[in-house]
Amino acid sequence: MKTIKELEDYAQENRIPIMQQEGMDFLCTFIAEHDCKNILEIGSAIGYSAIRTALANPQSKIITLERDEERYRMAIENIHDFHLEDQIEIHLCDALEYTTEEMFDLIFIDAAKAQYIKFFERYEHNLKPGGHIISDNLEFHGYVEHPETVISRNLRQLVKKIKKYIVYLEAKDSFETIFLKIGDGVAVSHKKSQK
Ligand code: SAH
Ligand code: MG
Repeated sequence: MKTIKELEDYAQENRIPIMQQEGMDFLCTFIAEHDCKNILEIGSAIGYSAIRTALANPQSKIITLERDEERYRMAIENIHDFHLEDQIEIHLCDALEYTTEEMFDLIFIDAAKAQYIKFFERYEHNLKPGGHIISDNLEFHGYVEHPETVISRNLRQLVKKIKKYIVYLEAKDSFETIFLKIGDGVAVSHKKSQK
């Protein structure tokens, strides 16, 4: 049996960008408080956040998507070690190609930062009215607030795309979004019940 601490240590040693402690605690509390039962996660990595999420609400069922085969395999192993196969369903796929008819209480976006608008648009119709979309890394190590500190051109492009996503969320009428300065920056978008 593996421990959560072992997953965290492994991620740190192997530079796998799992959710920061503060953001993770927030997500777990959120899931328990809102009793989120059907959850879609975009970006599983080694399964850390899916496992924490499953443990936060034993009534929940999580579908999680990962496109990197090595991480996917490791996630399967970890999910197995925690005996959470009944609660977590993982797919090896590009989240921009996966389709599902299921309706979710919560969608957690934590994959390629440049694609956030695309993820949102692809899955917002799978969100129940009153449901939430939570997006991670909207501060991106503080670069979003201080883009002048970014030297690399690629990184600057990425920061621009994250900013664009923030503007997109703010302008979206069918959702009410709050931006939280916890972890690496977390947005909570609440789908209004009626348009
Ligand atoms: N949620 C995880 C961390 C995810 S890191 C945790 O906190 O434990 C982001 C992951 O998203 C990476 O493993 C990357 O391979 C994956 N990813 C990026 N773009 C993706 C896409 N389009 N479809 C599926 N997975 C993607
Ligand atoms: Mg993240």
